[in-house]
Amino acid sequence: MAREIIERLPSDACLLCGEAPGVVGIFVPDKPMMWGISAGKAFRYCLCSKCHQRPDKAERVEKIIRHELAGGGVTYGK
Ligand SMILES: [Zn+2]
Repeated sequence: MAREIIERLPSDACLLCGEAPGVVGIFVPDKPMMWGISAGKAFRYCLCSKCHQRPDKAERVEKIIRHELAGGGVTYGK
């Protein structure tokens, strides 16, 4: 895995709530074509330590990335 993809960036924020990120995650789709990316590519995202502990984080992250790809942008809160 490319090292630079998991390095923190100053613009990073938790994907779920917008807080300061605690961890950097990689989402690798089973069927990249369905996500509009080429095989072997992955999505990079950040989570704060709180959201990282959520049992449903994978589900939520996937939903947000899907939503973002659909052109809805990322929404925070709730
Ligand atoms: Zn968070």
